[in-house]
Amino acid sequence: MTTTKDGIKRRDFLKVLGVSGAGVGLSGCSPKEVEKLLPYVVAPEEITPGVATWYTTVCSGCSAQCGMWVRTREGRAVKVEGNPNHPVSRGGLCAKGHATLTHLYNPDRYPGPMIREGDRFRKGTWDEAERLLAAKIKAHGNVLFVSGHTGPTMDRLIDRFVEEVRGTRVRYDALSDAPLREAARLVYGTDSVPRFDIENARLLLSFGNDFIDWGPSPVAHNRGLAKMSAVDDHGSKGRFVYLGARLSTTGLNADEWVPIRPGSEAAVALGMAAAVAEAGADAGPYAEVLRSYSPAQAAEAAGVSEDTIRELAERFVADVPSLAMGPGQGAHHRGATAANVAVAILNHVAGNVGRTVFYDARVDAAATPFSDMASAVSAMADAKETLKGTCSKASRNLEPAGIV
Ligand code: SF4
Repeated sequence: MTTTKDGIKRRDFLKVLGVSGAGVGLSGCSPKEVEKLLPYVVAPEEITPGVATWYTTVCSGCSAQCGMWVRTREGRAVKVEGNPNHPVSRGGLCAKGHATLTHLYNPDRYPGPMIREGDRFRKGTWDEAERLLAAKIKAHGNVLFVSGHTGPTMDRLIDRFVEEVRGTRVRYDALSDAPLREAARLVYGTDSVPRFDIENARLLLSFGNDFIDWGPSPVAHNRGLAKMSAVDDHGSKGRFVYLGARLSTTGLNADEWVPIRPGSEAAVALGMAAAVAEAGADAGPYAEVLRSYSPAQAAEAAGVSEDTIRELAERFVADVPSLAMGPGQGAHHRGATAANVAVAILNHVAGNVGRTVFYDARVDAAATPFSDMASAVSAMADAKETLKGTCSKASRNLEPAGIV
């Protein structure tokens, strides 16, 4: 970019000319005002007015990270589409993914830093916000950084910032994969969310996993279910059984619904695993623990007949490869991790690991457990009390400034 003698860049100069007309004096005009009047009179080199430019990216609507194409016109994003070459989404996006475009143009979105004054927020400049933030960090330390889902580059940047200020970081996601990941860590010692191959399963058991409504990867799972449910060349199709207390959208789309009591998923999965082991399957390291469980106990906990549990267990090893999915993002409760551990054991005993369930997808920048968020909220409440005490002792009418 060339610059004229008095410091005006050639491109800015041309923009001014484009609006005001050649020969009109420049006094009183500023390039900023002109930008608001007519953007892209002189567009960036990669933009051809009237021709859409597409960018390839990844949807950040959830941790599934489906491949996405963004259509832009004159520098503005106008539509998003699934990337057909992406291994997770293969051309699809869920409703939330399509709606991510509205984040950009939501009129309630803050266009810049907002600074709290009492109960109100006022617009500030980035310089002012940075100065204020630096002063507060210096004065109070003890920084808690709460973030949602971010991409790997932003994640590393935040980590470096938090490390620099010796703070604590919580990655919060209201619909997180934490119980699935924790179960994978407990059973297989891996920090990953299991990858389910629904498409190739002949019998799918969902233990309250509402993967059609929501889940770790709804686009991929919906596609998998559609393929599994289609009649193949031999005239057969996979079957889908939903075990859950509520007939959710996912349950409605199942071939069968087995209504079990809320919170009984772990007992049912372990009762079935015990039945499978009893029938001669190699339970490996779980043989001993499964001796403490039985289909009868599972039936009592779930409020269904013992025959139902036994029949499901028999089909689970007969219709191979089968697949069991534990409670996902839409079914978080106190027993969600235990239920996912039980389901992982059931898959292990039935020989599904490495066939329809995989633990090879390491998850970076995933949400931390809800308990971390609960501890952070308690710590914030304590800090607020401490600061209130400090302020009143000093007879100053100040808000607890350590919480920005
Ligand atoms: S599942 Fe939906 S929200 Fe999540 S990454 Fe894919 S398109 Fe985005």
